[in-house]
Amino acid sequence: MILVDKEEKKLMIKSNLQNHDLQLHRYQKDKFGISELVFCPKKSFFIRNGSDIPKPNGKMITGTLFHELNPIAIKDLPGVTNPLFEQECKTEITDEYGTYTITGHSDVLCDEKVMEFKFTKIWKRKPIADYYFYQANAYAFLQDRNEYEIIVIDKDTLQVEIFNGETNQKQFEEVILGNARLAWEALNTDIMPPVGPMYEWECKYCDFFEECKSKKTHDAMKQAGLL
Ligand code: SF4
Repeated sequence: MILVDKEEKKLMIKSNLQNHDLQLHRYQKDKFGISELVFCPKKSFFIRNGSDIPKPNGKMITGTLFHELNPIAIKDLPGVTNPLFEQECKTEITDEYGTYTITGHSDVLCDEKVMEFKFTKIWKRKPIADYYFYQANAYAFLQDRNEYEIIVIDKDTLQVEIFNGETNQKQFEEVILGNARLAWEALNTDIMPPVGPMYEWECKYCDFFEECKSKKTHDAMKQAGLL
């Protein structure tokens, strides 16, 4: 029998869960995920710029596992014809720095629309997050559907809320393409994107907070010709 210390076992379990293939290979320099592009473009820069990649937390893992139940969740649902699950969509952009790809997977792609599932805590007084719409809209736009549906499921009670939207090319270009362009340019110039997050809480929970502060100072000095 191999004797393993309890603390060692705890670390092993945590590490096994964190290192399964959820997102470790997602971060190539020239490939951006739609789900990251709804957030701060500076984070997309740090993730690809030699910084430590944040490990998935329990919320991310349960959210991903829950998606395996999507075929069951939509069973016999009206208005869902020929559903396909986890369908990849992508677009390539070429500019002065080369070519990069924006990619993602819609939860459900059917003849009528794209469906995006969110497994979270539904707070009665809180409006649904804008980034859910940006993400679903991007899948619908790239997968040539005129509509999308966001299904929010409360992780404790299974209360379900449904939100609908019409595909909006301008929003895709402004939010998704805009953030990808900022991160791509930063990676090619080594100057951090000039634009930060849409939501203040992103900085509060950001894995790159300290790095971001010192890079800001570094860039300012570089741009002033002091480095
Ligand atoms: S600290 Fe804030 S601005 Fe900096 S990378 Fe994180 S979210 Fe973006």
